[in-house]
Amino acid sequence: MLAAMLKSPGNLTMENVEVPQPGPGEVLLKVDACALCGTDKRVLAGEKPVSVPIIGHEIAGTVTAVGPGVAASIKVGGRYAVQTVIGCGDCPMCKISRENLCEKGFTAIGYAYNGGFSESMLMPKNAVDQGCLIPIPAGMDAEVGTLLEPLSCGINGLRDIPLEDMRHVVVIGAGVIGVLNGLIARARGAKRVSIFNRSQDKLDVIAKLDLPFDDLINMSKTDPDAWIKEQTGGRGVDCVIVSASVKSLGSLGMGWLARNGHLSLFAGMPKSDSIEPIDLNLIHYRELHLHGANSSVRRDYLEALRFLDSGKINGKSLITHRFPLQEFAQAVKVQNDSRSGALKVIIKP
Ligand SMILES: [Zn+2]
Ligand SMILES: [Zn+2]
Repeated sequence: MLAAMLKSPGNLTMENVEVPQPGPGEVLLKVDACALCGTDKRVLAGEKPVSVPIIGHEIAGTVTAVGPGVAASIKVGGRYAVQTVIGCGDCPMCKISRENLCEKGFTAIGYAYNGGFSESMLMPKNAVDQGCLIPIPAGMDAEVGTLLEPLSCGINGLRDIPLEDMRHVVVIGAGVIGVLNGLIARARGAKRVSIFNRSQDKLDVIAKLDLPFDDLINMSKTDPDAWIKEQTGGRGVDCVIVSASVKSLGSLGMGWLARNGHLSLFAGMPKSDSIEPIDLNLIHYRELHLHGANSSVRRDYLEALRFLDSGKINGKSLITHRFPLQEFAQAVKVQNDSRSGALKVIIKP
């Protein structure tokens, strides 16, 4: 089978490797589609280490073989999206199906196990046992199925935020993660959703795709403080979702919140530089709420599936480019080129 093999950081080659055979409890998938993600870019650049040569974690595939002992419900021909996160199964967090918060640290498909930039991939037994195969409906395209992973992460991060009651939500960051967070806010009933970004190119992509947002604000041209004051009569917005890895955005966004407002720190910050001073009295007197976000679990995938299947979120509208596996290098180039108009780039092996 053809696979994109990462030999060392920055050094990726297309190779023909042997198709893995499923052992006890394992499942072999033919990869129907695997999307490129911002994290892949960091892995390819050597900024994020992985322990396997085949990456790719936004995966939809079809079962082609099952090993002995796999549950009878998983059959050859079944179509699934792949849940990335695998917990230890034993700690208090795993015991309540929150493997994303596994106290021993979760492992993940595409990082600790070979992922989807390959014609076939093996689901390990611990992933199969945990329920990491998420069935996708017959009518759903595999490429839309790849959106379950990033969408589920947004759903997890926003889970405890009462978006349904909100008049105004601001998302900082116009990349695909910002877009997905904005779409979740919209689908859950937020009345007004504004996307902020520091450069125009990504805002232009969103405008061109005609995504359902109320405002696309270029923060380097429009003063965001003044804009929010003016638009909200000085009271501030109900929620700010930080979807860009710039730590000052956390304190900036907090300053834009109305009383009883919610701040979601969706984006992780550089590990070597994650300290940011904040005014604790803002939290105290305005009774603000803070939210983290760390990957996702099965319940989030199932909810993502409902949003996509019902059309509350139009998955197709986010996919701008498709490439065969042979053109992986070209796909990465398009994804990284801010002028290419790319939002979601899909590899179809
Ligand atoms: Zn991803
Ligand atoms: Zn655990």
